[in-house]
Amino acid sequence: MGAGFSAPAGGPDQAKLIERIFALPDRDAKTLDAIKTLEAFLVSVMHVDSAKKSEVNLEDIYTPIDRCLADGLSLRDRSPEKLQELRSKIDYLISLAIDRSFDDRIGTDPTCRNYVKRFAEYLVDLASDRAVKARGAVSADEAKAYDPFSIISLNWDIVLDKAIFQALGDKDRIDGDYDPFGVVDYCCYISSIEKTERRIRTGLWSLGARGYNVKLLKIHGSMNWLQCSHCQQLFVSFDEKINIPNFINAKSCRRCSKFHVEATLQGSLVMPTFLKDLSNFQIKLVWQNAAVELMEADRLVFIGYSLPYADFEFRQLLSRMVRKDAQIDVVLYHDGKAEGKRRYKEECKRYRQFFGARKVTTNCKGVVTFVSKLPLPTAP
Ligand SMILES: [Zn+2]
Repeated sequence: MGAGFSAPAGGPDQAKLIERIFALPDRDAKTLDAIKTLEAFLVSVMHVDSAKKSEVNLEDIYTPIDRCLADGLSLRDRSPEKLQELRSKIDYLISLAIDRSFDDRIGTDPTCRNYVKRFAEYLVDLASDRAVKARGAVSADEAKAYDPFSIISLNWDIVLDKAIFQALGDKDRIDGDYDPFGVVDYCCYISSIEKTERRIRTGLWSLGARGYNVKLLKIHGSMNWLQCSHCQQLFVSFDEKINIPNFINAKSCRRCSKFHVEATLQGSLVMPTFLKDLSNFQIKLVWQNAAVELMEADRLVFIGYSLPYADFEFRQLLSRMVRKDAQIDVVLYHDGKAEGKRRYKEECKRYRQFFGARKVTTNCKGVVTFVSKLPLPTAP
């Protein structure tokens, strides 16, 4: 799924993120400083017209910065150290702008996330059959063979993650460490940020305890992940978008501090750049697992994703892994206006060209309609 999945819930259009950053209303000292740093970079280093600074593409900001960082070069008068600092400030501002966009939407329409809740309940219901098959079984074969779906998301936001976590909590009223409940499975090595949080555990643990997993592979990272700069462990929370307060006051790694190493946690979002650094161990693991999921899938449903050329890394993964006989369904949205229709036509053409002789169906009714047609979860 792409940005179109979260759009009805308030997810911002990536092309409008810079505009949203400059319009942020809460201006504490750190935010103000980050905005000033970005503005100075755009105007005096990139020579952008100050009045048009909101129109710059994120790729055009990140790509030169990342090229310089990779080669240890300065960008005009900005040293690599300064560029690194600038980069983390932009990361923070993007998180803040996304967060604000969701808050604004739910403020004006409290029901805007209902479709996400319903989708999460549907997914949890489907996934939980694995625990039914594992209950009291001597052989794991039947449970192992049950693998109904996985979700690959290119989104940073956690609107679906939170809804799945909530649906899991509503479904399984058990939370002992070895109880057979379900988990959000990010398909990499995670721990909970709070030591006492039992319902965050790895997918493999949950399966070993005869529970189940809802596979959610976030190949561009997630706003609720923090990674230790020392041990590379990933820490997860569903309560808040932890990378925002972490920028203000970086948490230290609870694993490392046990061994008297003071290491700080950092956000781990893969930013829009033509030089994507996918060398991060945990992100690599997610990509490798996504490759296997794509190969195993006999049906792929693309929701709110336009298959842009800029996502060349994901496109090559699809090229290599999607089966020749896979059915491709594409769920997009247009508002009926000429521009929306034109874009929709172009996106459909892109999918058909990309997937060649495979069977591709497309529709323009959007994710809310798609979810409304899914069967309601069965009563336990
Ligand atoms: Zn650590």
